[in-house]
Amino acid sequence: MALDILTFGEALVEVMRTDVGQPLDQPALFMGPYPSGAPFIFAVQAARLGAKVGVIGAVGQDAFGKCLLDQLKADQVDTRGVHVLPDYTTGVAFVSYNIDGSRDFVFHARHAAAGQLSPQMLDKELFKGLKCLHIMGSTLSMHQEALQLGLQALEMAQDAGAKISFDPNIRPQLMSADRARYAFAPFIEAADVLIPSEEELLLLSDAYNVDAVVQDLLEDKPELIVVITKGAEGCMVMTQSDLDEIPGIGPMVAVDPIGGYVVEEVDPTGAGDCFDAGFLARWLAGDSPAEAAQFANACGALAVTAKGPMAGARKLAEVQTFMRENEPQE
Ligand code: ATP
Ligand code: MG
Repeated sequence: MALDILTFGEALVEVMRTDVGQPLDQPALFMGPYPSGAPFIFAVQAARLGAKVGVIGAVGQDAFGKCLLDQLKADQVDTRGVHVLPDYTTGVAFVSYNIDGSRDFVFHARHAAAGQLSPQMLDKELFKGLKCLHIMGSTLSMHQEALQLGLQALEMAQDAGAKISFDPNIRPQLMSADRARYAFAPFIEAADVLIPSEEELLLLSDAYNVDAVVQDLLEDKPELIVVITKGAEGCMVMTQSDLDEIPGIGPMVAVDPIGGYVVEEVDPTGAGDCFDAGFLARWLAGDSPAEAAQFANACGALAVTAKGPMAGARKLAEVQTFMRENEPQE
C-alpha cells in the first residue's frame, strides 16, 4: 500500500509535571508516559485526518516503546519503519511548566533508541508510490547520523517522485543557527513546501526581511509554497504572484495572511507538528494552499487546547466541526 506521507525522527514518550511551577531539579509528581516525539505527533495527526502515513524511527524493547507503538497502531500509522532495538531503552522527555508559561525539558534521547537513527534504517519499500516526504529540522539537528538519514531519505523520496515538505523547527540547544543554515540547505533547496516561523526563515538566510528571503527562494523554484507560522495569530501563505516580474527585482511575492483561531492555550506542545500535518493532509487531498493553511490553523489551535502531546490532534470531522463553529481572526 503506497503511503501519502512518510516522515522520520525521534521516538519519545513524554513524562510531565502534574502542576505548574514544579521545577525538574526537585522531587514532585510526574504524569505519563504519553506517546510523543515531534515526527510522531505529526504522523498521528495526519493519520487522524485520513492520510496514509508511515514513520521511521526507533524504540527500545520496553514498556515505553510499547506505549508509543500501541498508539501508532490505534491510529493506523504504518509502523514498518519503526525499529525495536533490544540494546537501548525508549527515549523520554521530562517536561515541567513554569509560571511564566515557558517549559523546561530533560531529554533522554541521544543515548536512547531515539538517538540511534541511521541511514541503514531506511527501507525502499516505504518510498514506493510515496506522495510526500515530511522532514523536520529538529530531527536533523540531533546528530550526524540523523542528518545522513535525512539526506538519504531526501534522495530516495525524490527518486520516487514524491513532494518534499520541510519544517526547519530550529532547536538552538541541539544545533546552532549557523550550522543549521548549512546543514538544512539541501532540504530547503529540494522543498516543494516550506513551513518555518518568521524567525526561522530569517535565521536561515542572509536576507534582511521575509519578503526578500521568499523572493530569493521563488527565483530558484517558482512553484514553491512557503507557509509561515505565527503562533496564535495564524499563518501566512507566500507564493509566486501572477503579476509580471519587476525587471531587476525578481518575481513578485503573493502574500496571503490566514487568521488563527481564538482558543484557550492549555499545552503548546505539538502545535507546529499538528499544523504541518493539517496543511499536508489537505494540500495532498487537493485543497489550495490557502484552504489547507486555514485548516492547518484549526489543527494547530486545537492542538494547544489539550494537555498531552497527542491529545489535541483531532479527527477530520472534529476539525471540520470546529471550523464551522468558530470564525478565524481577521
Ligand atoms: P513548535 O514549537 O511546535 O515548533 P512553531 O513555532 O512551529 O511551534 P507555532 O507558530 O507556535 O509553531 O504554532 C503553529 C500553528 O499552530 C500556528 O501557526 C497557529 O495556526 C497554531 N497555534 C499555535 N498556538 C496557538 C494559539 N495559542 N492559539 C491559536 N492557534 C495557535
Ligand atoms: Mg516549529
